[in-house]
Amino acid sequence: MRVVVAGGAGFLGSHLCDALLSRGDEVIALDNLCTGSMRNLIAAGAHDTFSFIECDVSDDVPDMGAVDAVMHLASPASPPMYLAMPLQTLAVGSEGTRRLLEIAGANVARFVLASTSEVYGDPLEHPQREEYWGNVNPIGPRSVYDESKRFAEALTFAHHRALGASIGVARIFNTYGPRLSPGDGRVVSTFIAQALRGDSLTVFGDGSQTRSFCYVSDLVAGLIALLDADVTGPVNLGNTLEFTMLEVAHRVLTATGSSSPIIHEALPADDPTRRRPDIARAAALLGWAPVVSFETGLARTIEHFQAIAA
Ligand code: UDP
Repeated sequence: MRVVVAGGAGFLGSHLCDALLSRGDEVIALDNLCTGSMRNLIAAGAHDTFSFIECDVSDDVPDMGAVDAVMHLASPASPPMYLAMPLQTLAVGSEGTRRLLEIAGANVARFVLASTSEVYGDPLEHPQREEYWGNVNPIGPRSVYDESKRFAEALTFAHHRALGASIGVARIFNTYGPRLSPGDGRVVSTFIAQALRGDSLTVFGDGSQTRSFCYVSDLVAGLIALLDADVTGPVNLGNTLEFTMLEVAHRVLTATGSSSPIIHEALPADDPTRRRPDIARAAALLGWAPVVSFETGLARTIEHFQAIAA
């Protein structure tokens, strides 16, 4: 297949490019590099079936010829990043999604949207099933991401219903692994970077809020299963093992052997209290489940952080 990966220089996008290339697909990565990095594409660049186009999908995408699939992962995804780029985040979920859906439509290509667990907001149901409509503050600071992705889902489903587009919507829960940027603010990367530097680990609030962390190779396998299946979704993709942020801090300290202290800082506005996916739908429709344990994933991620610091 000839696959477009929008957001291909990002953390998740670049791992997706690698996986598609290694199974023999041709990949065209699009990225405006607002949070992505060309360093993430060094391995991909070694394939002659890979090409990169620097462009902002919210503004314009050059002609790419015929394509078989379009995968839309373009967006800042870390809270500090999307809070710093509110208008760009809303633009890529709306204008960017529209443009990529039109490219897919013109090619009769399958369209896969990287949506998010943030569509559930601060969830009143636990764990979160795809049937749950969510609890999102539509005007809060996080709304620039949450509502952007909710609109992207609505637009994608409208193209499916009105125009018969082949779509797959993945709701991606917290994911971690090599290539997370040490400075991007997400919790696992932040704690590892702090622990390795000997700095204090900054737990926001009392640290009792929970998240469930999926290792990147598992997540990419889920996205590719969704690309290949005749499944519309939405489908939750994530790991069901749930930790408090205080537990994550302690696990990072143990795994790195660091004696950094833990300090508490203010909880960001509308920070979800708890989050864990119900992944029964992904298991039933895609035959997918994560396999990498938190210990293994954390060890691989720490190794990567040590390597880039060296
Ligand atoms: N968090 C934290 N310390 C940090 C960064 C994040 O305690 O230095 C918390 C944050 O408040 C949230 C959780 O970790 O409750 C996950 O945050 P992240 O930004 O990784 O992703 P989110 O799930 O909020 O999108």
